[in-house]
Amino acid sequence: MGTRATSIWGWGYADKFPDTEARRALAEQVSPLLGGPSLEPREPAPLGALRLPSPRIAPPESLAALCSTDDADRAAHTYGKGYGDLVRGFHGDFSPAPDFVAHPRTEDDVRAVMDWCGDHCVALIPFGGGTSVVRGVEAAIGDGFQGAVSLDLRRLDRVLEVDPVSRAARIQAGATGPVLEAQLASHDLTLRHFPQSFEFSTLGGWIATRAGGHFATLYTHIDDLVQSTRMFTPRGLHETRRLPASGAGPSPDRLVLGSEGTLGVITEAWVRLQARPRFRASASVHFPDFASGTRAARELSQSGLHPSNCRLLDEQESFLNGVAGDGSSVLVLAFESADHPLHAWMERALALTASHGGECREGARYRSDEPGASPRSGGAADSWRSAFIEAPYLQNVMVSLGVIADTFETACTWDRFDALHAGILEAVRGALERVCGGGLVSCRFTHVYPDGPAPYYTFIGPARRGGELEQWLALKHAASEAVMAHGGTITHHHAVGRLHRPWYDRERPEPFALALRAVKDALDPQGILNPGVLVGP
Ligand SMILES: Cc1cc2nc3c(=O)[nH]c(=O)nc-3n(C[C@H](O)[C@H](O)[C@H](O)COP(=O)(O)OP(=O)(O)OC[C@H]3O[C@@H](n4cnc5c(N)ncnc54)[C@H](O)[C@@H]3O)c2cc1C
Repeated sequence: MGTRATSIWGWGYADKFPDTEARRALAEQVSPLLGGPSLEPREPAPLGALRLPSPRIAPPESLAALCSTDDADRAAHTYGKGYGDLVRGFHGDFSPAPDFVAHPRTEDDVRAVMDWCGDHCVALIPFGGGTSVVRGVEAAIGDGFQGAVSLDLRRLDRVLEVDPVSRAARIQAGATGPVLEAQLASHDLTLRHFPQSFEFSTLGGWIATRAGGHFATLYTHIDDLVQSTRMFTPRGLHETRRLPASGAGPSPDRLVLGSEGTLGVITEAWVRLQARPRFRASASVHFPDFASGTRAARELSQSGLHPSNCRLLDEQESFLNGVAGDGSSVLVLAFESADHPLHAWMERALALTASHGGECREGARYRSDEPGASPRSGGAADSWRSAFIEAPYLQNVMVSLGVIADTFETACTWDRFDALHAGILEAVRGALERVCGGGLVSCRFTHVYPDGPAPYYTFIGPARRGGELEQWLALKHAASEAVMAHGGTITHHHAVGRLHRPWYDRERPEPFALALRAVKDALDPQGILNPGVLVGP
C-alpha cells in the first residue's frame, strides 16, 4: 500500500490536491467554459471535524489484532470515489461509516471475520481499493443488522504462482494494479488490465465489478482475462477449475464475475497473462465531426484488425483534453504486439479512417524494443493519455470549486447509437439547464465491439453550494432514464452498486432476478454480504 498518504475524501494521493492559489487559477480557466459563474475554492473539512457515528459494535478479542476502530480508518472505508462520495467526504459527512474495519492477512482471517459477522447479524462489506463510483462499498445497510464491518482485502496482495507454459498466474484478490504488475514483471509477463483507476483498484474489485480495462477491442473486460476464481461464501468455498474454455453448463465463474461482494469474498484468481508488448503503433485521426468518426470506428470494430486503443473523442472531449482545438473529433488509435511489427495493421486502419474523411495529420508513430529502434513520443495520443491519468484529480478540484463534474457510461448496438446519443445529449443538456443554469456534456468511446460502441459521457455544471447532491442526483437521474429509454445498459463497466440499482432492476429479466435471489439465499442465507446491492435487501 506504500506510505504516501491517500486522500480520505477525494481521489488519489493527498499531496496532489492543489493549494488554494492553484485552485483559484484553475477556477479562472473553468469559469468561462460554464458561462462565467464566479468560482471560489473552498477547503475540505479538517480531519478533526469529520462527523462519524459512534460504533454500535466492537471487534471481539479473537479478531482484535486484525481490526481497526480508528476514526480515520473508518472514514477512509465509508465511501467509494464517485462524485456524491467526494462531496459528502469534502464536507466531513461520514455518517454511513462502518463500525470497524478488518484487515485480513490470510484466507483463514477472511473466514473468521465472515463467521463472526454471520453469528452476530453484522453486515460485511468487501472492500478492495474503494474506487467504486456506484456506492458499492458504502454501509447503507438498513435497520436489520447490529452493525457493519468493512473487510479491506489489500493485505492479500501476492502473486502466488506463475504458469509460464499456459501463461497464467494465481494472484491474491487484494493486489492493486501496480502491485501485481510489479510481481509479474520479474517473469516478463503482464496482465495488461489498465482501468483508469489502475493505481488504486484491486484484482478482486475488478472481478467483483466486471471492470473494463484499456483494451478497446477483444479483451475489454476483466472477464476475458479470468481463468478461474476462488471465493469464500458463508456456505463454504466456491472454487472453479482452471480451464481455457468449457461448455459444461452455465459457467460457475459467471456467478463470481459481477457479484459485487454480495455472494462471497473473492480471495484469489488465476488470470491469463501475456508477453509484454515489444511493438507499438499509434496515431491520432482528426474527423470533421463526431458522426464521421463514429462511422469509421464502427468499420474498424468490424474489420478484424482489433486495435488495442480505438477511443473516439467528440469535439468537446478533444478540446478539453488538449488533443484538438479546431473543433475536430479525434480518434486515438493504437496497436500493440509482443510478436510482430504493426505497420500493415496501422496502414490498413488509416486507409479505412481516411475513407470516412479522417486525417492523420502527424503520421503514425511506431515504437519497438528492437535494438537500434528510436522511440518516438509526443503528439495528440500522449496529450490524451496524460489528461486521462490526471482527470480524477481534477474532479477533487471541481468539488472544492462548487462545480458538479461526473461521468456515466453505457453500451448499445450500432443501429441504435445515433438515437441514443442524441437522446442522451438532449436529456443531459436539458437537465443541466434546469438544474444548474447551464453546463457542458461531452462523449468518447471507451470500447468498441463489432455490434456496438460503449460511449462514455462527462458532464459539468455550476453547483449551488449546499445543493450539490440534490442537483447531481437530478442530473444522474435524467442521464440514466435517457440511457434506458434508448436501449442502452445502465452500465458497461462501472457496475451496479447502490446507485444504479433502480435501473438495473428494470434492465434484467424478472426470472433472472428470481434466480439471483435464490442464489443469494443459498450462498448467504443470512444476507450479511453487502446488503442492498444486486438483490434484496
Ligand atoms: C477515477 C476512477 C476511474 C475509474 N476507471 C474505471 C475504468 O477504467 N474501468 C472500470 O471498469 N472501472 C473504473 N472505475 C470504477 C472502479 O475503479 C472499478 O469498479 C473497480 O473495479 C473497483 O475496484 P476496487 O478494488 O476499488 O473495488 P471496490 O471499490 O473496493 O469495490 C467494488 C465492489 O466490489 C466488491 N469487492 C471488492 N473486492 C472484493 C472481493 N475481493 N471480493 C468480493 N467483492 C469485492 C465491493 O464490495 C464492491 O461492491 C473508476 C473509478 C474511479 C474513481
